[in-house]
Amino acid sequence: RRRAAQGRTDGPGATSDGHRVPLLANIGGPADVPAAVGAGAEGVGLLRTEFLFLKDTGSAPPVRQQTEAYRQVLEAFPESRVVVRVLDAGADKPLDFLSPGTEPNPALGRRGLRALLAHPEILHGQLTALARAAEGLPVHLEVMAPMVADRAEARLFADACRAAGLRAKYGVMVEIPSAAVRARSVLQEVEFLSVGTNDLAQYAFAADRQAGELARFHNPWHPALLDLIALCAESARAEGKSCGVCGEAAADPQLACVLTGLGVTSLSMTPAALPRVRAGLARHTLAQCERAAAAARPADSAGDARGAALAVLSGE
Ligand code: PEP
Ligand code: MG
Repeated sequence: RRRAAQGRTDGPGATSDGHRVPLLANIGGPADVPAAVGAGAEGVGLLRTEFLFLKDTGSAPPVRQQTEAYRQVLEAFPESRVVVRVLDAGADKPLDFLSPGTEPNPALGRRGLRALLAHPEILHGQLTALARAAEGLPVHLEVMAPMVADRAEARLFADACRAAGLRAKYGVMVEIPSAAVRARSVLQEVEFLSVGTNDLAQYAFAADRQAGELARFHNPWHPALLDLIALCAESARAEGKSCGVCGEAAADPQLACVLTGLGVTSLSMTPAALPRVRAGLARHTLAQCERAAAAARPADSAGDARGAALAVLSGE
Protein backbone atom coordinates (compact mmCIF):
# COMPACT_ATOMS: atom_id res chain seq x y z
CA ARG A 1 0.00 0.00 0.00
CA ARG A 2 2.76 2.36 0.93
CA ARG A 3 4.29 1.74 -2.45
CA ALA A 4 0.99 2.48 -4.18
CA ALA A 5 0.66 5.74 -2.26
CA GLN A 6 4.17 6.78 -3.23
CA GLY A 7 3.72 5.84 -6.85
CA ARG A 8 5.60 3.25 -8.83
CA THR A 9 9.30 3.67 -9.32
CA ASP A 10 9.64 0.89 -11.90
CA GLY A 11 7.52 -0.63 -14.65
CA PRO A 12 5.73 1.13 -17.47
CA GLY A 13 4.57 4.71 -17.14
CA ALA A 14 0.90 5.14 -16.34
CA THR A 15 -1.48 7.26 -14.32
CA SER A 16 -3.00 5.68 -11.20
CA ASP A 17 -6.08 4.71 -13.23
CA GLY A 18 -4.02 2.99 -15.89
CA HIS A 19 -3.75 5.58 -18.68
CA ARG A 20 -0.46 4.61 -20.34
CA VAL A 21 2.20 7.21 -20.98
CA PRO A 22 5.36 5.48 -22.20
CA LEU A 23 8.43 6.89 -20.45
CA LEU A 24 11.44 7.03 -22.73
CA ALA A 25 15.04 8.16 -22.44
CA ASN A 26 16.96 10.99 -24.07
CA ILE A 27 20.42 9.68 -24.88
CA GLY A 28 23.48 10.80 -26.80
CA GLY A 29 24.83 7.41 -27.88
CA PRO A 30 25.72 3.87 -26.78
CA ALA A 31 27.51 5.15 -23.67
CA ASP A 32 24.19 6.35 -22.22
CA VAL A 33 22.36 3.04 -22.78
CA PRO A 34 23.16 1.46 -19.37
CA ALA A 35 21.74 4.48 -17.50
CA ALA A 36 18.58 4.39 -19.63
CA VAL A 37 18.07 0.65 -19.17
CA GLY A 38 18.89 0.91 -15.45
CA ALA A 39 16.26 3.60 -14.96
CA GLY A 40 13.65 1.41 -16.62
CA ALA A 41 13.25 3.39 -19.84
CA GLU A 42 10.63 1.82 -22.09
CA GLY A 43 12.70 2.82 -25.08
CA VAL A 44 14.51 5.83 -26.45
CA GLY A 45 12.49 8.96 -27.22
CA LEU A 46 15.42 11.02 -28.43
CA LEU A 47 18.79 9.79 -29.66
CA ARG A 48 20.75 12.99 -30.23
CA THR A 49 22.98 11.67 -33.01
CA GLU A 50 25.09 14.81 -33.27
CA PHE A 51 26.84 13.89 -30.02
CA LEU A 52 28.31 10.86 -31.76
CA PHE A 53 29.96 13.17 -34.22
CA LEU A 54 30.88 16.34 -32.40
CA LYS A 55 34.49 15.26 -32.29
CA ASP A 56 34.60 14.41 -36.00
CA THR A 57 34.39 17.95 -37.19
CA GLY A 58 36.35 17.49 -40.40
CA SER A 59 33.82 15.47 -42.37
CA ALA A 60 30.71 13.39 -42.01
CA PRO A 61 31.47 10.03 -40.37
CA PRO A 62 31.50 7.07 -42.80
CA VAL A 63 28.20 5.20 -43.13
CA ARG A 64 29.85 2.03 -41.73
CA GLN A 65 30.91 3.81 -38.54
CA GLN A 66 27.45 5.33 -38.11
CA THR A 67 25.76 1.97 -38.68
CA GLU A 68 27.84 0.41 -35.91
CA ALA A 69 26.97 3.16 -33.41
CA TYR A 70 23.24 3.01 -34.17
CA ARG A 71 23.23 -0.76 -34.00
CA GLN A 72 24.69 -0.72 -30.51
CA VAL A 73 21.77 1.43 -29.35
CA LEU A 74 19.07 -0.47 -31.27
CA GLU A 75 20.26 -3.84 -29.97
CA ALA A 76 19.77 -2.65 -26.38
CA PHE A 77 16.04 -2.07 -26.87
CA PRO A 78 14.44 -5.17 -28.39
CA GLU A 79 10.69 -4.86 -29.05
CA SER A 80 10.91 -1.22 -27.96
CA ARG A 81 10.62 2.16 -29.58
CA VAL A 82 13.83 3.91 -30.47
CA VAL A 83 13.38 7.41 -31.87
CA VAL A 84 16.49 8.62 -33.65
CA ARG A 85 16.90 12.28 -34.48
CA VAL A 86 18.93 13.01 -37.58
CA LEU A 87 21.81 15.42 -37.15
CA ASP A 88 20.87 18.67 -35.46
CA ALA A 89 23.84 20.84 -36.35
CA GLY A 90 24.18 24.55 -35.84
CA ALA A 91 23.71 27.14 -33.10
CA ASP A 92 24.35 25.38 -29.76
CA LYS A 93 25.54 22.18 -31.53
CA PRO A 94 28.11 23.25 -34.13
CA LEU A 95 29.38 20.64 -36.59
CA ASP A 96 31.96 22.06 -38.98
CA PHE A 97 31.05 19.78 -41.85
CA LEU A 98 27.40 20.83 -41.75
CA SER A 99 27.27 24.33 -40.36
CA PRO A 100 27.96 27.32 -42.56
CA GLY A 101 31.09 29.22 -41.51
CA THR A 102 29.65 32.38 -40.08
CA GLU A 103 26.12 33.54 -39.65
CA PRO A 104 24.97 36.69 -37.86
CA ASN A 105 22.26 34.73 -35.97
CA PRO A 106 23.14 31.02 -35.90
CA ALA A 107 20.04 30.08 -33.87
CA LEU A 108 17.94 31.62 -36.65
CA GLY A 109 20.16 30.35 -39.41
CA ARG A 110 20.83 27.21 -41.37
CA ARG A 111 20.57 24.73 -38.52
CA GLY A 112 18.89 21.35 -38.02
CA LEU A 113 16.98 20.05 -41.02
CA ARG A 114 17.87 23.20 -42.96
CA ALA A 115 21.55 22.29 -42.81
CA LEU A 116 20.81 18.71 -43.86
CA LEU A 117 18.72 19.82 -46.82
CA ALA A 118 21.71 21.91 -47.92
CA HIS A 119 23.83 18.70 -47.73
CA PRO A 120 21.45 15.98 -48.97
CA GLU A 121 24.30 13.47 -49.25
CA ILE A 122 24.92 13.68 -45.50
CA LEU A 123 21.22 13.16 -44.73
CA HIS A 124 21.09 10.24 -47.16
CA GLY A 125 24.18 8.69 -45.58
CA GLN A 126 22.70 8.92 -42.12
CA LEU A 127 19.35 7.47 -43.17
CA THR A 128 21.11 4.67 -45.02
CA ALA A 129 23.15 3.86 -41.92
CA LEU A 130 19.97 3.77 -39.83
CA ALA A 131 18.24 1.45 -42.31
CA ARG A 132 21.23 -0.91 -42.21
CA ALA A 133 21.53 -0.75 -38.42
CA ALA A 134 17.90 -1.77 -37.96
CA GLU A 135 18.06 -4.66 -40.44
CA GLY A 136 17.01 -7.92 -38.81
CA LEU A 137 16.48 -6.36 -35.39
CA PRO A 138 13.08 -6.60 -33.66
CA VAL A 139 13.20 -2.89 -32.77
CA HIS A 140 10.54 -0.28 -33.53
CA LEU A 141 12.69 2.32 -35.24
CA GLU A 142 11.34 5.83 -35.59
CA VAL A 143 13.27 8.63 -37.23
CA MET A 144 12.66 12.33 -36.80
CA ALA A 145 14.00 15.63 -38.06
CA PRO A 146 14.91 18.60 -35.87
CA MET A 147 13.95 22.19 -36.59
CA VAL A 148 11.06 21.66 -38.98
CA ALA A 149 9.13 24.83 -39.80
CA ASP A 150 6.22 23.68 -41.95
CA ARG A 151 4.56 20.99 -44.05
CA ALA A 152 6.91 21.49 -47.01
CA GLU A 153 9.93 20.72 -44.83
CA ALA A 154 8.18 17.73 -43.27
CA ARG A 155 7.56 16.39 -46.78
CA LEU A 156 11.19 16.89 -47.83
CA PHE A 157 12.26 14.87 -44.79
CA ALA A 158 9.71 12.11 -45.44
CA ASP A 159 10.85 11.99 -49.09
CA ALA A 160 14.47 11.60 -47.98
CA CYS A 161 13.48 8.74 -45.64
CA ARG A 162 11.62 6.96 -48.46
CA ALA A 163 14.51 7.50 -50.88
CA ALA A 164 16.89 5.83 -48.40
CA GLY A 165 14.58 2.80 -48.20
CA LEU A 166 14.05 3.29 -44.51
CA ARG A 167 11.38 1.07 -43.04
CA ALA A 168 10.52 3.14 -40.00
CA LYS A 169 7.99 5.66 -38.81
CA TYR A 170 8.92 9.19 -39.83
CA GLY A 171 8.19 12.14 -37.62
CA VAL A 172 9.25 15.68 -36.89
CA MET A 173 10.22 17.65 -33.85
CA VAL A 174 8.13 20.67 -33.04
CA GLU A 175 10.65 23.29 -32.02
CA ILE A 176 9.52 26.21 -34.16
CA PRO A 177 6.21 27.90 -33.30
CA SER A 178 5.07 27.81 -36.95
CA ALA A 179 5.09 24.01 -36.82
CA ALA A 180 3.00 24.01 -33.64
CA VAL A 181 0.49 26.46 -35.06
CA ARG A 182 0.18 24.37 -38.25
CA ALA A 183 0.63 20.95 -36.64
CA ARG A 184 -2.32 19.38 -38.46
CA SER A 185 -0.86 20.41 -41.80
CA VAL A 186 2.59 19.07 -40.84
CA LEU A 187 0.96 15.78 -39.81
CA GLN A 188 -0.27 15.23 -43.36
CA GLU A 189 3.33 14.25 -44.17
CA VAL A 190 4.53 12.35 -41.11
CA GLU A 191 3.28 9.94 -38.47
CA PHE A 192 4.26 11.61 -35.23
CA LEU A 193 5.29 14.81 -33.50
CA SER A 194 7.85 15.18 -30.75
CA VAL A 195 7.84 18.55 -29.01
CA GLY A 196 11.30 19.87 -28.19
CA THR A 197 10.43 22.30 -25.45
CA ASN A 198 13.97 23.67 -25.13
CA ASP A 199 14.02 25.13 -28.60
CA LEU A 200 10.28 25.75 -28.74
CA ALA A 201 10.69 28.05 -25.71
CA GLN A 202 13.72 29.71 -27.28
CA TYR A 203 11.77 30.56 -30.42
CA ALA A 204 8.41 31.29 -28.81
CA PHE A 205 9.90 33.83 -26.41
CA ALA A 206 12.68 35.08 -28.72
CA ALA A 207 15.11 34.26 -25.92
CA ASP A 208 18.45 32.63 -26.75
CA ARG A 209 18.63 29.37 -24.79
CA GLN A 210 22.31 30.00 -24.11
CA ALA A 211 21.70 33.43 -22.55
CA GLY A 212 21.59 32.88 -18.80
CA GLU A 213 20.08 36.29 -18.09
CA LEU A 214 16.99 35.28 -20.10
CA ALA A 215 16.42 32.15 -18.01
CA ARG A 216 12.97 33.27 -16.95
CA PHE A 217 11.78 32.67 -20.52
CA HIS A 218 13.02 29.11 -20.44
CA ASN A 219 10.70 28.08 -17.65
CA PRO A 220 8.63 25.35 -19.31
CA TRP A 221 5.67 26.09 -17.04
CA HIS A 222 4.98 29.27 -18.98
CA PRO A 223 1.36 29.09 -20.13
CA ALA A 224 2.27 30.31 -23.62
CA LEU A 225 4.40 27.20 -24.01
CA LEU A 226 1.66 25.02 -22.52
CA ASP A 227 -0.76 26.42 -25.13
CA LEU A 228 1.64 25.54 -27.96
CA ILE A 229 2.09 22.02 -26.61
CA ALA A 230 -1.68 21.64 -26.24
CA LEU A 231 -2.11 22.66 -29.86
CA CYS A 232 0.33 19.93 -30.93
CA ALA A 233 -1.32 17.27 -28.77
CA GLU A 234 -4.85 18.20 -29.92
CA SER A 235 -3.75 18.24 -33.55
CA ALA A 236 -2.15 14.81 -33.24
CA ARG A 237 -5.26 13.41 -31.59
CA ALA A 238 -7.46 14.86 -34.33
CA GLU A 239 -5.23 13.22 -36.96
CA GLY A 240 -5.10 9.90 -35.10
CA LYS A 241 -1.35 10.29 -34.57
CA SER A 242 0.96 10.61 -31.59
CA CYS A 243 2.62 13.59 -29.96
CA GLY A 244 5.42 13.13 -27.44
CA VAL A 245 7.51 15.64 -25.53
CA CYS A 246 11.29 15.21 -25.46
CA GLY A 247 12.48 18.57 -24.09
CA GLU A 248 13.48 19.21 -20.50
CA ALA A 249 9.85 19.92 -19.58
CA ALA A 250 9.17 16.18 -19.50
CA ALA A 251 11.67 15.69 -16.67
CA ASP A 252 9.62 17.65 -14.11
CA PRO A 253 7.26 15.18 -12.37
CA GLN A 254 4.43 17.67 -11.86
CA LEU A 255 4.78 19.17 -15.31
CA ALA A 256 4.78 15.62 -16.71
CA CYS A 257 1.28 15.23 -15.21
CA VAL A 258 0.19 18.50 -16.82
CA LEU A 259 1.60 17.40 -20.19
CA THR A 260 -0.32 14.15 -19.84
CA GLY A 261 -3.42 16.20 -19.11
CA LEU A 262 -2.81 18.20 -22.29
CA GLY A 263 -2.93 14.96 -24.27
CA VAL A 264 0.77 14.28 -24.80
CA THR A 265 1.19 10.55 -25.57
CA SER A 266 4.76 9.85 -24.40
CA LEU A 267 7.47 11.57 -22.38
CA SER A 268 11.19 11.36 -23.02
CA MET A 269 13.78 12.66 -20.61
CA THR A 270 17.25 12.30 -19.18
CA PRO A 271 17.43 8.80 -17.61
CA ALA A 272 18.03 10.15 -14.11
CA ALA A 273 14.57 11.78 -14.14
CA LEU A 274 12.64 8.62 -15.09
CA PRO A 275 11.97 7.18 -11.58
CA ARG A 276 10.54 10.41 -10.19
CA VAL A 277 8.39 11.09 -13.23
CA ARG A 278 7.10 7.52 -13.18
CA ALA A 279 6.26 7.84 -9.48
CA GLY A 280 4.62 11.24 -9.98
CA LEU A 281 2.37 10.03 -12.79
CA ALA A 282 1.34 6.96 -10.82
CA ARG A 283 0.04 9.16 -8.01
CA HIS A 284 -2.61 10.88 -10.14
CA THR A 285 -5.55 9.90 -12.30
CA LEU A 286 -5.84 11.06 -15.89
CA ALA A 287 -8.80 13.25 -14.87
CA GLN A 288 -6.62 14.93 -12.22
CA CYS A 289 -3.90 15.53 -14.81
CA GLU A 290 -6.51 17.06 -17.13
CA ARG A 291 -7.80 19.30 -14.36
CA ALA A 292 -4.25 20.37 -13.51
CA ALA A 293 -3.63 21.25 -17.17
CA ALA A 294 -6.92 23.17 -17.37
CA ALA A 295 -5.99 25.08 -14.19
CA ALA A 296 -2.50 25.96 -15.44
CA ARG A 297 -3.33 27.23 -18.93
CA PRO A 298 -5.29 30.42 -18.05
CA ALA A 299 -2.48 31.66 -15.75
CA ASP A 300 -0.44 34.70 -16.74
CA SER A 301 2.97 33.48 -15.61
CA ALA A 302 4.98 30.31 -15.21
CA GLY A 303 4.83 30.65 -11.43
CA ASP A 304 1.06 31.04 -11.36
CA ALA A 305 0.57 28.15 -13.81
CA ARG A 306 2.68 25.90 -11.63
CA GLY A 307 0.88 27.00 -8.48
CA ALA A 308 -2.52 26.33 -10.03
CA ALA A 309 -1.46 22.89 -11.27
CA LEU A 310 0.12 21.90 -7.96
CA ALA A 311 -3.03 22.90 -6.09
CA VAL A 312 -5.02 20.45 -8.22
CA LEU A 313 -2.41 17.70 -8.04
CA SER A 314 -2.11 17.94 -4.26
CA GLY A 315 -5.89 17.64 -3.96
CA GLU A 316 -6.51 21.11 -2.54
C1 PEP B 1 14.68 20.57 -27.57
O1 PEP B 1 15.00 21.52 -28.28
O2 PEP B 1 13.81 20.62 -26.67
C2 PEP B 1 15.34 19.25 -27.75
C3 PEP B 1 14.89 18.17 -27.14
O3 PEP B 1 16.43 19.22 -28.54
P1 PEP B 1 17.87 19.78 -28.09
O4 PEP B 1 17.78 20.13 -26.63
O5 PEP B 1 18.83 18.71 -28.41
O6 PEP B 1 17.99 20.98 -28.98
MG1 MG C 1 16.22 21.27 -30.03
